[in-house]
Amino acid sequence: MKEIKNFNIKGKKAIIRVDFNVPLNDSFQVSDDTRIRAALPTINLILSKGGSVILMSHLGRPKSNEEAFSLKHIIPTLNALLGQEVQFANDCIGEEALKLASNLKPGQVLLLENLRYYKEEEKGDVDFAKKLASLADVYVNDAFGTAHRAHASTAVIAQFFPNDKMFGLLMEKEIEGIERVLNNNKKPVSAVIGGAKVSSKIGILENLLPKIDHLIIGGGMTFTFIKALGGKVGNSLVEDDFLPMAKEIMEKAKEQNVSILLPVDSVVADRFSEDASTKIVDTEDIPDGWMGLDIGPKAIENARKVLLQSKTILFNGPMGVFEMSAFEKGTKKVAEAICEATANGAFSLVGGGDSVAAINVFNMQERVSYVSTGGGAMLESLEGKILPGIQAILD
Ligand code: AMP
Repeated sequence: MKEIKNFNIKGKKAIIRVDFNVPLNDSFQVSDDTRIRAALPTINLILSKGGSVILMSHLGRPKSNEEAFSLKHIIPTLNALLGQEVQFANDCIGEEALKLASNLKPGQVLLLENLRYYKEEEKGDVDFAKKLASLADVYVNDAFGTAHRAHASTAVIAQFFPNDKMFGLLMEKEIEGIERVLNNNKKPVSAVIGGAKVSSKIGILENLLPKIDHLIIGGGMTFTFIKALGGKVGNSLVEDDFLPMAKEIMEKAKEQNVSILLPVDSVVADRFSEDASTKIVDTEDIPDGWMGLDIGPKAIENARKVLLQSKTILFNGPMGVFEMSAFEKGTKKVAEAICEATANGAFSLVGGGDSVAAINVFNMQERVSYVSTGGGAMLESLEGKILPGIQAILD
């Protein structure tokens, strides 16, 4: 496989699939440029090596080619971040794009219009992918956020560059993060899994069990496990259909010598509200009419002890309803312990769910090893799937 750092790209045109699916405000200005900034290292690397860059992305979910979804809205932000004026093709394929691409000089950047103006993109249409491919000499995939989709620009296009396809730097980092948690991990390995529902985490739990030493469970999914163990969960969130599954996971964990840490205590509330009455109770004995919305102080301390001894940590899903300040403490303290463990040399990956939002709210991005840029793509990777966008480069 070719590596972008070693690839001789001088004088060549690289078409990069980026994820510029950014939020826009009412005046169509970029309101969060994180995804654009995440693509800069790859773009700048190619430009600095004497190549030229063609950027392609989707933006939102257009039905046809509505102006609201035009990538031209991001040009001012992109120009400012790159420190140069990018060219723009009003159509991602066709004569104008071909002409602009063929006239592109080393050091220049061309942005193509929204790929999803064509239905062929999401259908993975081969002819459409071929037209995109005809614009460039080299294909770079740096869009981890869409790597779990087998679309024309994320996977199908790769076949037209058998010897000139590679991952961008962002994609390399995401893959390395997953590798360091799942395959090349240093033991002990802890996975902190939270969030609302156990049903959405079954695939991850099953894939992780053979690879980890400790499973720290929090969030709404706690109560399905507690009920499966015969505990009283009051009005807490429970998925009754998944009680057998929760039991099975606990049995498998035992067989594989994985310790499961369920929160021994919880912050319970009399309603789902910021200003509800709250108290701390044993998680297996929640009174009727009360619901668990955060892990309690003993649970925090137990998780902290395990995390501080861990060499590899995955953080997927909050420990409580962290969006409400009354129930943010568990998530915040656990995140704090992950940051401390990281400072002591552990590798920590935050990804695949609302734990990314939590880390951003607590402003801890710089204190963990890596924060993933891909929600669904990270979830599927943690489930053990090889994503189409990654497979297409490896093939
Ligand atoms: P996920 O997308 O699965 O990571 O779930 C994240 C959501 O789970 C967040 O919006 C939290 O507010 C919610 N959540 C966390 N703990 C609980 C809980 N104990 N009860 C209900 N919802 C929760």
